[in-house]
Amino acid sequence: MKFDPVSHLDSAVYEIPTDGPEADGTLAWDATTMVVVEIQAGGAHGLGWTYGSGGAQNVIRQQLARVVCGSDPMAVPGTHEAMVRACRNLGRPGIAASAISAVDIALWDLKARLLGVALSDLFGRCHAEVPVYGSGGFTSYDDKRTCEQLHTWVEDWDIPRVKIKIGESWGTNPYRDRRRVALARRVIGDETELFVDANGAYSRKQAIRMGRRFVEDYGVCWFEEPVSSDDLAGLREIRDQCEADIAAGEYGYDLTYFAPLIESGAVDCVQVDVTRCGGYTEWLAVAQLAAAHGLDTSAHCAPNLHAHVAAAVPRLRHIEYFHDHHRIEQELFDGVLDPTGGALRPDRDHPGHGLSLRADRAERYRVS
Ligand SMILES: [Mg+2]
Repeated sequence: MKFDPVSHLDSAVYEIPTDGPEADGTLAWDATTMVVVEIQAGGAHGLGWTYGSGGAQNVIRQQLARVVCGSDPMAVPGTHEAMVRACRNLGRPGIAASAISAVDIALWDLKARLLGVALSDLFGRCHAEVPVYGSGGFTSYDDKRTCEQLHTWVEDWDIPRVKIKIGESWGTNPYRDRRRVALARRVIGDETELFVDANGAYSRKQAIRMGRRFVEDYGVCWFEEPVSSDDLAGLREIRDQCEADIAAGEYGYDLTYFAPLIESGAVDCVQVDVTRCGGYTEWLAVAQLAAAHGLDTSAHCAPNLHAHVAAAVPRLRHIEYFHDHHRIEQELFDGVLDPTGGALRPDRDHPGHGLSLRADRAERYRVS
């Protein structure tokens, strides 16, 4: 069967304010920037996006459009490789990789729509549904807001695992960290799994001390980025001395980033973000590499973009159901999935990832 080549690649940048001040251990923000890509071929279209810098649009326009337009919509890995080569002189990690990710997602979505199948069927499904965990719990929240959010996830949506941010102000407020973890445990009860994420805020010894307390006193079972994810020896040391699973990987922009993270024994579970790592093409490769080393993969944020590809991975742990992205995806897209019950169920009745942009609603946030 022959398909028309890709004819159009359009992009837009949206800036969506948060619903209040947000911070983790090492960063504060008040808006999320989303770069959306739409690709057309033979009367069908594909949709992808990345959460990151609006600068990705420049890369899409100046480097990627010329290799994507005219490409065979069935040959996504080949186009992916051509995009990577086109960005050689830019430096691949960061903004270039985010741009490649958004386009790669749109290309896979386009291919599935041309074939009339769901993305999970195109990749090949292992799971009918994929677990999620509620994620937010910002260090900038007061106790009332923290309790409300935890209550929404656990009581209203029946999600049996949640994560809060710790490491406030680069680890300089450990007493409030402990108090907030204690609060979270009180609110969610004994049977909900409790995760914490320090976003690299602690020193090694501090992380070991804090991690042991979190595990022993509050049953924390997932300790994400206790120290910088660039400190592989430090992650390994903490992993050896702390019973909680150690996780990292959200800043990985290509397969070569993940090789030392995985091979050094730094983590118990690898986090991979399809909007950063190079799209579905690279996400699947990272998950395979992790599996080869006996590790599960967890999808970082962008829950609706991850559902289908996560369903295609045997050793899939869960998807991070992140507060900001939940808000954005619910408001700006049709076809979003419902996390009630603690899992997303990829829709097989709609081709591709099943998502479409609500352009009228998005327009008010458009900046480019
Ligand atoms: Mg994180």
